[in-house]
Amino acid sequence: MSTKIKMLVPLVEMDGDEMTRIIWAKIKEILINPYVELNTEYYDLGLKYRDETNDQVTVDAAEAIKKYGVGVKCATITPNADRVKEYNLKKMWKSPNGTIRAILDGTVFRTPIIVNNIKPFVRTWNKPITIARHAYGDVYKNVEYRVQEAGKAELVFTSKSGNITRQTIQDFEGSGVLMGMHNLDESIKSFARACFNYALDLKQDLWFSSKDTISKIYDHTFKDIFQEIYDKEYKSKFEDAKIEYFYTLVDDAVSRIIRSEGGMVWACKNYDGDVMSDMVATAFGSLAMMTSVLVSPEGYYEYEAAHGTVQRHYYNHLKGMETSTNSMATIFAWTGALKKRGELDGIKELVEFADKLEKASIKTIEENCMTKDLAQLVESNEVKVVNTENFLWEIKKRLDEML
Ligand code: NAP
Ligand code: MG
Repeated sequence: MSTKIKMLVPLVEMDGDEMTRIIWAKIKEILINPYVELNTEYYDLGLKYRDETNDQVTVDAAEAIKKYGVGVKCATITPNADRVKEYNLKKMWKSPNGTIRAILDGTVFRTPIIVNNIKPFVRTWNKPITIARHAYGDVYKNVEYRVQEAGKAELVFTSKSGNITRQTIQDFEGSGVLMGMHNLDESIKSFARACFNYALDLKQDLWFSSKDTISKIYDHTFKDIFQEIYDKEYKSKFEDAKIEYFYTLVDDAVSRIIRSEGGMVWACKNYDGDVMSDMVATAFGSLAMMTSVLVSPEGYYEYEAAHGTVQRHYYNHLKGMETSTNSMATIFAWTGALKKRGELDGIKELVEFADKLEKASIKTIEENCMTKDLAQLVESNEVKVVNTENFLWEIKKRLDEML
């Protein structure tokens, strides 16, 4: 092995919890440190240290991503009542992902890792489908009301200057339900720009869908904002990259996606994105093969796996039992981040290394060597099932052959 690849600008490294924390250290030890002189600014987002710092470490990590541009994050525990007891927490801290997303004002893009021996449930899908989910507003920030008796429901807006507009929603003759929701032009614009930038990054078409035929003001505003930003800021860039942007109704998008071969970014409103990302993940086979990247409108990137800390495996590990936890999505979080760092800093070797590590990881599975979760999905009966750590050594073997 020749000299290690050098990095110019630090990568923001955010460690996490449980089984993924164990995998995190092993990936670095086996697959990265031998080849790259890793230059990271380390933030421990493990629950214990978040509690010690009153969650300041999460905020600091997000600020560091703003400073350097790229971060890589391990899965973390979002505390609930059980965790407060388990870790004797001062407080039920908020989800670190939520905190970071709010600071970066980012959009989350989720993409499956495709291997040729695990067939998606949709036979025609041979390229990944990336779902971009708007992460602000709509039904996730609503006001609801249970109507118990006859009465009139109205939508009233009082402007700061004192103008009042009033519309009747419904004259109720008996009981029913009511909901009010909103979104913000600024948030929709950020979402649109993040999607246009990401599609350019991947050199894939961008689809955006909503229901503007029914929602003639609310959803139509989304459609108009996307179109306006596209025409003003992205049209010529898309033409140069030979990719397309188009808008279509959400039900039309669903039927076209199912008949497609994949290979596009599909931007969805908040609720559609929630539903469609689970549909796409499941149809492609496994949560353990789903990568996730948060992209801010300013072009900051945070890479992670879509799955959680795999608590059940961790408890088995603590009991001394052997585990077979799939590290693919976490490896791809690292390769995504290293590749982006390499692109931004003009370090070709780093980009090539990350590419090869991805190829070696895919090759390992395609040669029928994999963790238990995938073994159930593969048709072949010559599968070699390996434990958590040996899977990494198998990848290293193939990586060394490529380097
Ligand atoms: P999870 O960690 O994603 O695991 C759920 C189940 O999915 C596992 O028990 C396992 O199934 C399977 N699985 C997920 N990832 C796998 C992998 N890499 N390899 C093999 N199997 C895998 O979700 P959870 O158990 O609901 O949540 C655990 C903790 O993670 C929670 O504290 C939650 O707050 C946190 N979480 C964090 C993030 C994040 O940081 N981005 C996201 C989601 C959840 P089997 O048990 O059947 O083997
Ligand atoms: Mg969901």
